[in-house]
Amino acid sequence: MIATAVERAARSKQRLARVGGVSILTSDMSNAKPHLKPHPIQKRESGSSSGASLARLRLRLSATAESIIRGGHPWVFADSVREQNRAGTAGELAVIYDRNDKFLAVGLYDPDSPIRVRVLHAGKPQTIDLAWWAARLDAAVRRRDGLFDERTTGYRLINGESDGWPGLVLDRYGTTLVLKIYTAAWRPRLEEIVALVRERLKPERIVLRMSRNIQPAGARNEFPAHAGSLPMGKGEGESSSVRKQLWTDGEIVFQQRPGPEAGAPVVFHETGIRFEADVLRGQKTGFFLDQRENRRLVESLARGRAVLNAFSFSGGFSLYAARGGAKSVTDLDISKHALESAWRNFALNQSYEAVARCRYESIQADAFAWLAGNSGRRFDLIVLDPPSLAKRETERAGAIRAYGKLAEDGIRHLGRGGVLVACSCSAHVSAEEFFGAVRQAARSSGRKFEESQTTRHAPDHHATFAEAEYLKGVYLRVE
Ligand code: SAH
Repeated sequence: MIATAVERAARSKQRLARVGGVSILTSDMSNAKPHLKPHPIQKRESGSSSGASLARLRLRLSATAESIIRGGHPWVFADSVREQNRAGTAGELAVIYDRNDKFLAVGLYDPDSPIRVRVLHAGKPQTIDLAWWAARLDAAVRRRDGLFDERTTGYRLINGESDGWPGLVLDRYGTTLVLKIYTAAWRPRLEEIVALVRERLKPERIVLRMSRNIQPAGARNEFPAHAGSLPMGKGEGESSSVRKQLWTDGEIVFQQRPGPEAGAPVVFHETGIRFEADVLRGQKTGFFLDQRENRRLVESLARGRAVLNAFSFSGGFSLYAARGGAKSVTDLDISKHALESAWRNFALNQSYEAVARCRYESIQADAFAWLAGNSGRRFDLIVLDPPSLAKRETERAGAIRAYGKLAEDGIRHLGRGGVLVACSCSAHVSAEEFFGAVRQAARSSGRKFEESQTTRHAPDHHATFAEAEYLKGVYLRVE
């Protein structure tokens, strides 16, 4: 078993490192010959094992997966795990060795996800300790250096895998930080991550959000920290053993000054425009920070135009259009809650003369039906930014058709010289497939059109591998 391999390696003077309270080999393993025994991929047993007494979790992969991981891809799928020395628990560190028993990568293990390991580091053996985590946080923050001036206080600080934090997002809204996790693998480490974020970024408040797929487990509070947690300091005056059991979606996990305003939306700035964000309950982390660059483009195109913002949410595109001198702005969304937020956002920005002058209305309706039917209404600029239309691969073809239909219906509502801004946030639909569907819709309108540009990810939402790419936009001018 592995313990013997570790002992043998220690005898042969290999270097041992302490990682999260458990020793792992960090040097060349070629002499160690650990002889991993094939282990059936098991469901985690109920109850959590204490990592302290267990050997480091070690895996080997199929040859294909090995080269994919060597190439920098951050996901190890369950069906590519060939050998495993024991069952693992959510969030413990798994070390991956290649077929020559050399260190290949280390990542977060998740027994309940088809993405079995999310790679933290690949390449040379690496000790994952407090200093390493701190350096990784600092690197993500540094990557945003110079992107924003003081007029923008809402943006993404950590964008998951693409910043080396697989399945974790950190968004800034003024002095509030929202930490959102998309995998249960982070749960045992939350306390330590929050302590690190507090120490490095000094926020006034940290809100924890969890994606829906991991919420039921959260509600049951059944993920005690295990011995593989990060060796970081505890928050002052907090009883960590109690705190970590209680954390749930939408919880304020740190607040400098408790006050009556604790549950109210946060107000932040985006290029000087004031927006509220419902950081405790809203979609994503409370606002669609990923669309900022498209909104700026819409601002530059809006002067004198009648604008329709379909799938408007809290009016992100609408405020930019209004500040850019739009004659009128119409918000169209199915959610009353979203439209009310948009009204408040207009109210927050009346100090901009152009916003105060802009005629504003909102329509609560199903945007697909509204655009397909009725209304001889014409606009000069239409933004289409629907929610993801393909949540899974099997919905891809249907989604492409729906994007085409939406663009076709949008174009029918455009007057001469009107501009269509069509966006897609479906990761399962590629940029080329989406652009193709919109171009085809424009061709079938029989009207002359010009494509002015296409857009992808904003710099604070950069994507470093194919599966992380989801956002695309295309701008057409129709005669
Ligand atoms: N453009 C927005 C983000 C859009 S999010 C921004 O920049 O902030 C998608 C929005 O579509 C949500 O507000 C949701 O309420 C709305 N929505 C979902 N289905 C809809 C439908 N069938 N008709 C109209 N709006 C819908």
